[in-house]
Amino acid sequence: MNRKQLLSKFTDRKRCLVTGGAGFLGSHLCERLLEQGHEVLCVDNFFTGSRANIAHLLDNPRFEVMRHDITFPLYVEVDEIFNLACPASPVHYQHDPVQTAKVSVHGAINMLGLAKRTGAKIFQASTSEVYGDPTVHPQTEDYRGNVNPIGPRACYDEGKRCAETLFFDYHRQSGVNIRVVRIFNTYGPRMHPADGRVVSNFIIQALSGEPITLYGDGSQTRAFCYVDDLIGGFLKLMNAPDEVTGPINIGNPVETTVLELAETILRLTGSASQIVFRPLPVDDPMQRCPDITRARTLLDWEPRVPLEQGLRSTIAYFQRVLGVSSPAAGLQELPRAAAG
Ligand code: NAD
Ligand code: UDP
Repeated sequence: MNRKQLLSKFTDRKRCLVTGGAGFLGSHLCERLLEQGHEVLCVDNFFTGSRANIAHLLDNPRFEVMRHDITFPLYVEVDEIFNLACPASPVHYQHDPVQTAKVSVHGAINMLGLAKRTGAKIFQASTSEVYGDPTVHPQTEDYRGNVNPIGPRACYDEGKRCAETLFFDYHRQSGVNIRVVRIFNTYGPRMHPADGRVVSNFIIQALSGEPITLYGDGSQTRAFCYVDDLIGGFLKLMNAPDEVTGPINIGNPVETTVLELAETILRLTGSASQIVFRPLPVDDPMQRCPDITRARTLLDWEPRVPLEQGLRSTIAYFQRVLGVSSPAAGLQELPRAAAG
């Protein structure tokens, strides 16, 4: 290694703050940032995140964990902020809706204030939920959404919409360097086993031989992105030129009905679980799929992991953490190189 290469290890190194860093997506992001040689400060109140998600990172001298609730101010010195802290599954964000709105709005104000004071670049994990139950299909970033402002999902949807407003106002008013990503349904290893999301629910039900709970008639659609693909998109957006503020959709544009998902998981696990039908939750979106033209053209980003391959990896993860074995062979966690 010559002198220039040696010095670049330190000059290219950034101090990155990841809020919600002990969660599903946050832990994968911390891991990737450390692999790139950066210093990572993981801030989390462990509401839905866990030490187990980051246990493998704790020995790294460039990794630090702080227990903190971002609805309260935080004073640290950093170069980049990734704001992911917020419960994300309907079960978790409806558990304490007032706190969900607070994390989204007060949390965003605190992190934007930190970015303004330190001059840090700041990334917001927004969501396809800003489109509500969409009337435009697939959803482009220009679509303004169809959100019920007083329904049970509103604490999250409207909280995230208000956070986007704050990001763009801090950008216009104070010149804060922002990146806003709208994340579509993402799955993979380290999903919370009790988050009630469709992928984790169906896999756990299939592995334990319990009935698969299909809400509605299963004709509603989602488009599922594997976690490693998604994190690749985050990093491309953060490293894009400053005028690429977003909002930008990141997701896998392959649409699947929830019934098809159940059948695929049953086949891959070799499970004999029966499908049972349950009422559709209030305001459950009927159709969701991202238009990712912006991500393709501005970031040169494309998801690479097909649903079946990502599901095999996720099933293998749940088999490991639940300590169960399945009759189906050929299931293993996916190496990172497979993703975009
Ligand atoms: P997650 O619940 O696993 O992670 C959220 C993390 O934030 C957890 O570690 C939790 O303990 C932490 N947290 C919650 N409130 C906090 C607070 N007040 N202060 C500090 N930490 C707090 O969820 P996830 O799937 O990893 O989602 C991460 C982000 O991505 C969220 O902002 C979510 O809205 C967004 N998102 C995720 C998806 C998805 O499919 N996973 C889709 C759209 C948007
Ligand atoms: N769903 C289901 N059974 C479950 C969990 C979820 O049929 O056990 C459905 C849910 O009604 C929704 C879709 O799966 O139509 C995706 O739900 P999830 O909670 O994963 O996320 P959402 O996209 O609704 O935020």
